[in-house]
This record gives sequence, structure tokens and C-alpha cells, in this order.
Amino acid sequence: MWEATLPSSRHYQIFGYPRVQTPPPLNKRRVCLRFACPSDLQSRLTMRRRASLRTLLAACLAVHVGCYVVERGDTRVNNHVLREQNLVLEERAENSVHSLIKVTESTSTTIPAPQCVLPPGMAEEIQGYQEVVDRVIDYVTTGDFKGQVYSHLANLVDTFGPRMTGTGELEAAIDWMVEQSIAENLDNVHTEDVQVPHWVRNNESAWMTLPRLKQLHIMGLGSSVGTPPQGITADVLVVKSFDELKKQGLKAAGKIVVFNPTWESYGVTVQYRSQGASEAAKVGAVAALVVSITPFSIASPHTGQQYYSVENKIPVASVTLEDAAMMERMQARGQNITVKLIMGAKNYPDTISRNTVAEILGTHQPKETVLVSGHLDSWDVTQGAMDDGGGMMMSWAALVVMRKLNIRPRRTVRAVLWTGEEQGLHGGIEYFKRHQHDHEQFQLIMESDSGTFTPQGISFSGTPEATCIMEEVLKLFHRINATQLTNPMTGGPDIAVWEKLGVPTGGLKNDNSRYFWYHHSYGDSLIVEDPDVLDRCLALWTSVAFVLADIRERLPHQQDLNHLEAGSG
Ligand SMILES: [Zn+2]
Repeated sequence: MWEATLPSSRHYQIFGYPRVQTPPPLNKRRVCLRFACPSDLQSRLTMRRRASLRTLLAACLAVHVGCYVVERGDTRVNNHVLREQNLVLEERAENSVHSLIKVTESTSTTIPAPQCVLPPGMAEEIQGYQEVVDRVIDYVTTGDFKGQVYSHLANLVDTFGPRMTGTGELEAAIDWMVEQSIAENLDNVHTEDVQVPHWVRNNESAWMTLPRLKQLHIMGLGSSVGTPPQGITADVLVVKSFDELKKQGLKAAGKIVVFNPTWESYGVTVQYRSQGASEAAKVGAVAALVVSITPFSIASPHTGQQYYSVENKIPVASVTLEDAAMMERMQARGQNITVKLIMGAKNYPDTISRNTVAEILGTHQPKETVLVSGHLDSWDVTQGAMDDGGGMMMSWAALVVMRKLNIRPRRTVRAVLWTGEEQGLHGGIEYFKRHQHDHEQFQLIMESDSGTFTPQGISFSGTPEATCIMEEVLKLFHRINATQLTNPMTGGPDIAVWEKLGVPTGGLKNDNSRYFWYHHSYGDSLIVEDPDVLDRCLALWTSVAFVLADIRERLPHQQDLNHLEAGSG
């Protein structure tokens, strides 16, 4: 089911529109946007945003309601204009593959569901897959495969533990997945080399020494430099935002800056993790501590990647919500805070890891491919059962299920188990570089990297026609209550880049409201996963991949985007 009613909250996404073939009647109070990308962002934008803005613009022009024009130019100017117009432009994820625009206006308007007109006979063809979908659901949720994907996942995470990029454990886990793939008689099993960073955390600790002695639970952030062996001892300045840091001016010089932003969403708040050290260094800080990027904490620090954009690299670690809030209260009371930070973190030369590939070869158009994926690497402090063991193992198991049920679709289904995701999408980027010229051959590219909680459906980016086809396919999943279709695709950081070339992409829509509780922390272990729920995720994932690989129709690709983009500026 797709959302037919805009939420009445302050924020809503405008990305619901691309599905609409005929523009919806726009409420006149709604702000719409005419948008031209600043050139420095141009290369980082996803197809999705261009497509969505394009569609939105078309909708606005069609009904002649106000569009605010934002011209090509400086990002800050654009952001300023956007704010003036009550719009917020935000970069949603680190690594710049996701973006979205929110409209901050309170309107609640019912948008009529789009009228999907499928090619003749297509709805019947898709509904004809109900029997095979039911076979998959039965086999995976109550039959011989029940509990198998969980069992494989448990074996992986218990045997190899954390699978940090640059470690032997990750490479051993890759070898094991290759062996398992061969043992399951999958086709074309191989690996593809990827150059990855090699960062080692080593020992780390932090103590608040004033106004009282207390150990702070920290986790160094990926790619951070270490401190000198004796550590860094300095007074603390707590700030809520980059703006506040700038306003404090010289006050930050020589201090350890503690960022304690209010959690809004991962996409919004993560900028303090990814850019905190660089922003603090710009105003002369000697180290930075960033509140963990999570809405919930039981004294748990959460790691994650950070990126230096300055020459002066200062050490940076995460602290817990509890400790950050306490230091903020102390500062508000006028108490002086001193922290001693010791980090042994080291960056070593890049090393080679591998994406793992296995296939079920198609019977009729084997060069055309539905790709299913998740990442095999994890952070060093976690088993990575949730991020992304579940999504990765489910993508692999989808092929095993097809093999065991002896169902082979017309097109090839390919599983890719990405490496090096956590430290900058290295596996996904390398795969794109290597295979982008084949983009026409991809029917659909899917990734599950936002949890394998109760499955609800598929998040999807594609043309309105492709979206209508996917919506029809999802009607096959009433039995497991997973018929929802949302737009755009979310939870596929490694595959979002393909949207640039117009390839349809899909993610697992699941009830992942607790995802960031565990994310990148000690808490991401197998007990987060539920075997029955994982089976239902697998049934959906396998069946969607199978049906899309087998239907006669090729999913339309978004081919006219450059042309459209040129016309919209
Ligand atoms: Zn992940």
C-alpha cells in the first residue's frame, strides 16, 4: 500500500510524487520548488532527486501554483533561500548517496492514488505468480528452509565475529561465503577485488577529570587519528550545533569540543559524526567528542565513519547520550569540565578485499540481471548481525531457496555481498565502476541494509511505470502482510549510485524503528534478529527477485533524465 494521505506533521517528503502519472491536484498552500543544483553538488545528486524534482516541477507548472526559484550557485546561498521559503534542503546520509528535501509546512491533503495502467495482460501475468510465491513462502516460513537463514547467520557471526574492513576475519568470512555458495551449487561463484582502507582502533579511553572523576564510554570514529601516547587533556566546550560552535568563536581554541546535537533523524544528525572533527579543528579545538548517533541509549557508544576535510586532523570519538547530556548540564551550571582522551587509532595503507558474487543463471535472458545484495563487512566493535548480516545473508539465501526449490527465472538473479561498506561504500563504488557500462542489463538492483525486522514491503525508485509494476507484484504478499510500496528506495547505500543511470532500485521496507538503537554498537548482535521474522523477510526478498527476474516485461529505466534536467533549470 502506498501512502495516500500526507501526514499532518510539520515535515513530509515530496518524494511521494514520482509515482503519479498524472499530477495530483496541489493544495495551494503547499510550497513547491523549482530547483537547480549548485555545481559542486551536481555530481553527488541521485537520480531520484532529479526525477522527483522534475516530476514535482511538472506538477507545479501544470496547475500554475507558486514555485520558488532557486538558482544555480553557492550551497549556503541556496540553503538560505530555501529556509527563507520555508524549505529545508538536506544531505541525508554520509557518503552523499542519499538526499531528500522536506517541506516544512503544515498541510494535510489527500492525494488520489495514481491510476496505474499496466501493459495489456501484465496484471494477469503477475498474479499468475501467486502459486510460486506461495511455494516460496511455505518453504521458507513453515517448510524445510524454516530457520535456515537465521542458522547460517548465527554461524557466520559467531564464527567470525566482527568483520572489519582490512582484517583477516573479514577475508575469512568472505572465503566461507564462497565455500557455502559452491556447496549450495550456485552458479558463477567468484569474488572481485576492491581496494579498501585499513584503520585500526587500538586501545582507547577517556576520563572526565573535572568537576569529578568519571570514566566516559567512548568509541573512536573510523579514520580518526590517534592521540599522543600520553593522551590529550583539555577543557571541554559543549555545543549543540555547528552554528553554535561558530558563534563561540575563539572559545573553542585549545579545547575538546563535545557535540551534543538533538537527535532528529540519522540522516540529519550524522553530520556531526562525519564532519565534527573537521569543524572543531577549524576553530582550533584539539579533539572532538560527538554524541552517539542514536535516539536511545543504555550507556552505549556508537561508532561510525568520519571524514576529514581539513589538513589539521584531530582525534574524534563518540560518547554516550548520557555523558554528553551530563556535560551539557555541567557547562550550563558554569562548572569547568576537563577530559583526558587517549586513542591509539592508526590509519594503515589501503589493502585489498573482495565483493562476493554468486548467481542463479537465467534460462532465457541470462545477461539480464536482478541483483540482490547486502554488505558482509561490519564495524570492529560488533557482530554486525543486524548491520548488515541479516540483509546480506538473506540476499545470499534467496539464491539458495531458488536452487533448492528448483525454480530458475528467465533472467539471472545475482547476489553481491559487498565489502568495505562501513568505511565509505568501497565495494559498491568499485562494482559500479566495473559494471556501469552494463547498466541496461540490470532489470532491478536491490539491497537490504536497514534492518531485517518485520517486513512490510519494498521501497523503490524507478519510473512511474516501473513503480506500477512493482506495486502489482507486491499484491502477491498479502499472506505475509508485506504489500507496502514506498518511494524512494531507502536502505541501499551501495546501490543508490545506480539511480544515476536510471536503473530501478529496491530496498527492504521493514519495521525498523529500533534500528539505530543497535547500529554500530556492541548491541548489534544476533539477539536483535528474530528467526521467524527473518524467514518472512527472506520469503519476500526471494519472491520479489524471482518474479522480477521472470516476468516478460523489462522494467523501464529512467532514460530521459539528462534531457529533462536540462529543461528544468
Ligand atoms: Zn550497513
